Amino acid sequence: MTSSTQLAVIGGGPGGYAAAFLGADLGMQVTLIDEAPNPGGVCLYRGCMPSKALLHVAKVVTEAREASACGVTFAEPTIDIDRLRFWKQQVVSRLTGGLRQLSTQRGVTYLQGRAELLGPSSVRVTILDGTTTDLEFAHGVLATGSRPAIPSALRLESDRVWDSTRALEVPEVPESLLVVGGGYIGLELGSVYAALGSKVTVVEMTPGLLPGVDRDLVTVVARRMESTCEAILLETTVTNLAEEGTGVRVTLEGPSISESIRQFDRVLVAVGRIPNSEIPGLERTRVRLSEFRFVEVDRQRRTAEPSIFAIGDLVGEPMLAHKASHEARAAVESIAGRKTVFEPAAIPAVVFTDPEVAWCGLTETEARAQGRTIQVARFPWAASGRALTLDRPQGVTKLIIDPDTERLLGTGLAGSGAGELIAEAVVAIEMGATVSDLRLCIHPHPTMSETVMESAEVFFGQSTHVYRPKRG
Ligand code: FAD
Ligand code: NAD
Repeated sequence: MTSSTQLAVIGGGPGGYAAAFLGADLGMQVTLIDEAPNPGGVCLYRGCMPSKALLHVAKVVTEAREASACGVTFAEPTIDIDRLRFWKQQVVSRLTGGLRQLSTQRGVTYLQGRAELLGPSSVRVTILDGTTTDLEFAHGVLATGSRPAIPSALRLESDRVWDSTRALEVPEVPESLLVVGGGYIGLELGSVYAALGSKVTVVEMTPGLLPGVDRDLVTVVARRMESTCEAILLETTVTNLAEEGTGVRVTLEGPSISESIRQFDRVLVAVGRIPNSEIPGLERTRVRLSEFRFVEVDRQRRTAEPSIFAIGDLVGEPMLAHKASHEARAAVESIAGRKTVFEPAAIPAVVFTDPEVAWCGLTETEARAQGRTIQVARFPWAASGRALTLDRPQGVTKLIIDPDTERLLGTGLAGSGAGELIAEAVVAIEMGATVSDLRLCIHPHPTMSETVMESAEVFFGQSTHVYRPKRG
């Protein structure tokens, strides 16, 4: 059976469903294709949402354990793993079901199946029962996302070796868990399992956790991880995995490793993600791939095949849901004939550990690498009244400022709830705000948002709550 649609979107993640919904809102006839029963993609089914649900549980457990410092003592939390799984699954179902409803309300046709491109303007969808539907389209958006990278040394066909998808299912709480990779997933899921009761060891091949992120921010979370994890092994790699007894025998290599063979109950591999660019039939189009297998796109997210756009994890870093959905906007507006480009000055990034780490715009590390002159204004959370009332004074807010124009170029935050605070900095950077603007905007008291205003005051040597006179 062949039918036609104006816009065919392949992949129903935050890139794909945002593209489909906007297309429909702009009056296009849209078909959204994904293998899952409902839209949502990695983010909703096996990424952002289930991980954040589990991190919420981890925070509740940790806060209950630590409340005694404020004079409230709870009994040691007991964890009902079945109920926890059920609750997390309910969150996912509500969200994905809601997206399906939104598709229907907008008149988007949702096809549950696997897409194969037949050429630059047609696609074949193999539905679950094996039947196929061919669809002609005027424009296509590829949003097929990414999947976990598993290097050969870490490949072991065993249910004792997990990727993030398996870890999010919480099949069990192992007594000991080795997390390979000290990036976003390693730290987020490592903290979940540590809070649930596993002895977690993190192995990171570079000299520090969260490589690329400013060290003063990372220190805040690293200190916490050091106290909640069994061990954090830096400059260490895993060279072999093998099943042994009821666990996994792991061979480690690194300058600080005295005991290279160790045993863990389970291993979680979280060493990055690779794009799903092996879209069947892609070779029948002119779409080009980069050296790292990402689909090449221009500023409107158009590929080398003029009728086909691509967005999200498929087109490159940062592999973040909000980047995907904003690329969707650029692509679909461009398809609708509007003048648009995807050129953000600040894409926020948040690592949802507790404490959280968040940053946007230019980082101090990038500025130093570029040899760019910047000024940095820091406000320690220990000087924030709100942080003390929350019993969470560990943290820092810092602004990266252009000394000539006094414009805000970037912001970094580390501390409990940092992820909510970063949005103000994104708006400020995108609006071209100066550090004076941040200083002069009245922030509510007592809130953590005041640390943004006070770091602006630090820049002028006039912060009310820290004494740091301006030099020179
Ligand atoms: P995806 O969400 O990957 O969706 C692609 C979809 O396309 C999938 O459903 C796939 O099945 C489908 N597909 C692929 N090929 C075909 C085909 N041939 N036919 C039909 N369908 C196909 N990002 C954040 O911003 N915040 C977070 O807190 C966060 N947490 C994360 C936690 C984890 C554990 C993981 C793994 C990722 C997390 N991310 C987070 C990253 C985020 O999930 C991705 O950046 C985002 O999902 C990318 O969206 P996308 O639309 O590009 O593709
Ligand atoms: P990552 O790139 O964040 O971290 C991977 C880490 O593994 C790096 O620190 C790297 O140095 C290390 N590594 C690589 N090979 C190794 C090896 N052989 N041995 C030891 N360490 C090794 O990747 P991730 O944690 O898998 O996450 C993938 C992507 O998913 C992220 O980059 C991010 O874009 C997205 N994500 C985002 C969020 C969020 O927004 N909060 C959460 C989870 C995932």
